[in-house]
Amino acid sequence: MRAVVWHGRHDVRVETVPDPTIEEPGDAIVRITSTGLCGSDLHLYEVMAPFMTPGDVVGHEPMGVVEAVGSGVQRLRPGDRVVVPFNISCGSCFMCSSGFQSQCEVTQNRQWETGASLFGYSKLYGQVPGAQAELLRVPHADYGPISVPTGPPDDRFVYLSDVLPTAWQAVRYAGAPGIDSLAVIGLGPIGDMCCRIAHHLGVETVIGIDLVDERLERCRQRGVTVLDGREHDGEAALTDVVRDLTAGRGAAGVIDAVGMEAHGAPLAAAAHKALALLPRALSAKLMLSAGSDRLSALRLAIELVRRGGTLSIVGVYGGMTDPLPMMTLFDKQVQLRMGQANVRRWVDDLLPLVEDDDVLGLEQFATHRLPLEAAPDAYELFRHKRDGAVKVLFQPAAR
Ligand code: NAD
Ligand code: ZN
Ligand code: ZN
Repeated sequence: MRAVVWHGRHDVRVETVPDPTIEEPGDAIVRITSTGLCGSDLHLYEVMAPFMTPGDVVGHEPMGVVEAVGSGVQRLRPGDRVVVPFNISCGSCFMCSSGFQSQCEVTQNRQWETGASLFGYSKLYGQVPGAQAELLRVPHADYGPISVPTGPPDDRFVYLSDVLPTAWQAVRYAGAPGIDSLAVIGLGPIGDMCCRIAHHLGVETVIGIDLVDERLERCRQRGVTVLDGREHDGEAALTDVVRDLTAGRGAAGVIDAVGMEAHGAPLAAAAHKALALLPRALSAKLMLSAGSDRLSALRLAIELVRRGGTLSIVGVYGGMTDPLPMMTLFDKQVQLRMGQANVRRWVDDLLPLVEDDDVLGLEQFATHRLPLEAAPDAYELFRHKRDGAVKVLFQPAAR
């Protein structure tokens, strides 16, 4: 089959690799019809390189049609249309039963002390072959895959794999429904979807902050009060504007939907590059212990949140040594919530939103639908935010 294969920093290629097969009774093989490109894939493409191995198949946002099932799979049959969550979870351990499917105790990676395995997401998360491919082996297939009806286009359902549950969890973790104001920093696919969900959950004032014209414009068109970070001189200026919009208090909830992306933080970008040039074992160690992350979005989030408010971190961070303004967090009595989305936990809440009217505008959410063969260009397009690229969907069946 054809698949997107990681070869190094800024180097993915589309190659022919062996077809996956049923390895365990609980496996299914899914033929992928649509599969997303995510901000998290850019981390692998850049700073996470020390944890990748040339030859790894990447991608974690797929849907498609079941092609084969193992002898232990009861719930699925060949021909079923399914969306596959990005986390691989068993569904019955203590963590899965408590709604923490991203911490599944059966698929946890104890060697690295990380949570549940993820498709296509480095040694830290199980080195499971990913979903930017024609075929995907899905372990624990009786639990993960979400069955969806035939008829509506893939765009209605494919975001159930990651973007929708991730944004839903971020907005719920920020305190909605029940808050009057929410500021979202970063309007990539995740931040944009957070704004849509916040409106849907009745948050009155939704403020979105980014640095890219078309990302700001998409959100403005849907009623978000957008602030262009380039037009405001630093954290203090943005904080003043957000306070003006929220009766002087700051936002009740703030979401950091940026994460450790290097964009806009030259020092961190240089650190990422330096790290990538070190020998592999050394840079993996440094990345875990010395901290290469940039915290400018997180620091802004801490400024924007009102006293007693909630900060929800959905952007992915690594590293440990960057200092956090602990005094501000403590003094403002900020509540912090964060983590990888527990995809399965939110599916029942989300299905009605994708099945009935397209209230979240999913059919127009993707900016690019491309054949798999276009992946190397698409990664560059998305990384540099060229050609209006916000959300790219690959369609492996297209040529
Ligand atoms: P993305 O890279 O397209 O979005 C990041 C956005 O942040 C961009 O629009 C960029 O312009 C903006 N940005 C960068 N620096 C900024 C700054 N200083 N101020 C304001 N905006 C700034 O990626 P995405 O797909 O939307 O993902 C966003 C984050 O969420 C990534 O870190 C990704 O890894 C993470 N993520 C987490 C989960 C989870 O389960 N927690 C799931 C999916 C994605
Ligand atoms: Zn993703
Ligand atoms: Zn489990």
